[in-house]
Parts: sequence; C-alpha cells; structure tokens
Amino acid sequence: MKTRVTQMLGIEHPIVQGGMQWVGRAQLAAAVSNAGGLGILTALTQASPEDLCKEISRCRTMTDKPFAVNLTILPTIKPVPYGEYVDAIVESGVRIVETAGRNPEPWLPAFKKAGITVIHKCTSIRHALKAEAIGCDMVSVDGFECAGHPGEDDVTNLILLPLAARRLKIPFLASGGFADGRGLAAALAMGADGINMGTRFMVTEEAPIHHSVKQAMVEASELDTTLIFRSLRNTSRVFSNSVAKQVVAIEAQAGETQFDDIAPLVKGVRGRELFETGDLEHGVWSAGMVIGLIDDIPSCQTLLTRMVAEAQTIISERLQGLLADS
Ligand code: NAD
Repeated sequence: MKTRVTQMLGIEHPIVQGGMQWVGRAQLAAAVSNAGGLGILTALTQASPEDLCKEISRCRTMTDKPFAVNLTILPTIKPVPYGEYVDAIVESGVRIVETAGRNPEPWLPAFKKAGITVIHKCTSIRHALKAEAIGCDMVSVDGFECAGHPGEDDVTNLILLPLAARRLKIPFLASGGFADGRGLAAALAMGADGINMGTRFMVTEEAPIHHSVKQAMVEASELDTTLIFRSLRNTSRVFSNSVAKQVVAIEAQAGETQFDDIAPLVKGVRGRELFETGDLEHGVWSAGMVIGLIDDIPSCQTLLTRMVAEAQTIISERLQGLLADS
C-alpha cells in the first residue's frame, strides 16, 4: 500500500505504533519497524535525556529501518525537563517525532531546524487544525475509543476521521480502535493515510510487558475499560481492574477530587511495576476499547502481514465486488 504516510515516513505499511509509556522501548519499536511499520520509542519511559540517547542507540542496533520518538506533554507528578529531552532527540539524529498532549509549538523550531518530521497526536479537529497551522507535518487523530488520554470531547473516530479528511490538508493517521485489517481498510476509506495502534501492539510477542498483562487483554471484552481523571479534566482510559474502580469511586464522592486523593493509586511507577511483575491489581494501565477485538499474541511481523493482507482482500474483493455488475 502506498499512501502519503508511507511516502513521508519511508515505511512499507501505513501502520504506526503508538507512543506508550513503559511499553515504547527499543525491542518493540525495532520489531514494528522491522515488520514494515513505524516503531516509536517513548521519551518519558527513559528516566533521563541521557538514558533516552542510549535507548535510541540501542534501537539502532536492532533495526536499520526508520523509527520515531514520542514526547508526551501532559500533567506529571514530577516536573519533566522537556527542553533537555528535545535536545537529546535532536542530537541523536532521530528523523521523526510524535508529540502528544499539549500544544507542541514551543518545541517545533528545534525539531524543524533539524529537519525532523513532526506528527502531533490530537483528540479534536480544532487541535488538528491548530497543529497544521503551526507547521506540524502530520497529525494522528485519536478518537474517544483510544487508550490513555482521549481528551474531554468524547467524539468517536466515525465522526473525527471524515471531519479530518474534509478539513485538513496535511496527511493524518487514524488512532484509537484499530487492531485488524477491517479497521485499516475502514480508516483508509474514511480518508486517513494510515493508522496508529497502541493497545494492539501491547499484545504482541515483542511488547516488553509481562505475559499476564497481555493475556488479561486477550481475555477482556470491549466493556473492560474505564475512564479515570474525568473530574480533573485529564481523562484517561485504562483497563478496568480493582484499582481503576477505586479511583472512579473516589472521583464520584461528593466535593471536588484533588489529584493527591488518588495519586498513590495511579502513579506511573506502579504501572511500570505492574508491567514488570504481572500483578494485575498493583496499579492502572492504559488500554483501549479495542481489547474487545484482540484474541491472540502474535509477533509484530505476523500481525502486520496479516492486517495488510486482510485489508487488501477487503478492498480488492469485498468492496470491488460491491461495484461489479451482477
Ligand atoms: P505520572 O506518574 O507523573 O502520573 C500518573 C498519571 O497521573 C498520568 O496519567 C498523569 O497525566 C496523571 N497526573 C499527574 N499529575 C496530575 C495532576 N496534577 N492532575 C491530573 N492528572 C495528573 O505519569 P507517568 O505514568 O510517569 O507518565 C508520564 C507521562 O506520560 C504523563 O504525562 C502521562 O500522562 C503520559 N501517559 C500517556 C499515556 C497515553 O496517552 N496513552 C499513557 C500513560 C502515560
């Protein structure tokens, strides 16, 4: 498949891996890139900008294909030295960056000066238009189905993607709710130039998380996610375990929730430990509604080959067949 995304990013398949905290490490990013997609390292998964440089070098030993770095700009418990992470990305010679969360404008001059292609992840059309206006090269349009932070508008991709096709000039990826060839074909039909998948890549052989977490997502249905941080306007979709349910219950209590009321339950380090140990009730982890469509743990190569073949069959047989004279 040839789209503006494959051409601009220099990849074989129009499939990009989401930048997931604690998951976007070299072994997964390299596996996705080696399978013909675009793998992404997550900057804040590395404890310091120096560690990020080392992880970028490690990824280069595992693939000679393009890969990107994600920089997420959202509330954090500890302040993040974003400028130093930006310098590390630029100095490492990375060619593609995915920004997510708040407006990336302060960091764009440094990326643009270095000739870096910038993809900004947005959860609304107004933010996508703003990203286009400030000079981002591509956007990733993230629907309400998505894992992690879906924003506060609650608009699903069936509306967001056609709107993006109507209003944007730059290429865009469809993100949130994608796991198979049907989704890929549908995204392309709605005007996207490719898809971004996070949760689906968590449930692959190469994802650096405990097998129990992957198995829990295989067994889960589309009803097994929940929204936390709604009361703080920093909504996040996570797997509905006992900790997430406790957070939702605290947020539902009378009076205003303070972040400190829930911080001990949700802090990222507990999510990291959960991924390491496989103790599914130790913290919270991001998961999209798409867990309802995931029922195996393939390698990234098997997954991408299968998805592209499925999408090609849908386009050339099912859709073409609908047009054929009978
Ligand atoms: P962390 O330990 O600093 O915070 C844990 C969670 O609490 C994060 O979701 C964060 O946004 C939220 N949070 C922190 N301070 C807050 C405040 N004052 N008000 C409201 N919410 C607050 O974060 P981490 O796990 O080390 O992750 C680092 C960054 O990556 C964060 O910005 C986080 O939001 C982001 N992240 C994004 C996704 C996603 O969108 N898929 C998933 C996980 C983490």
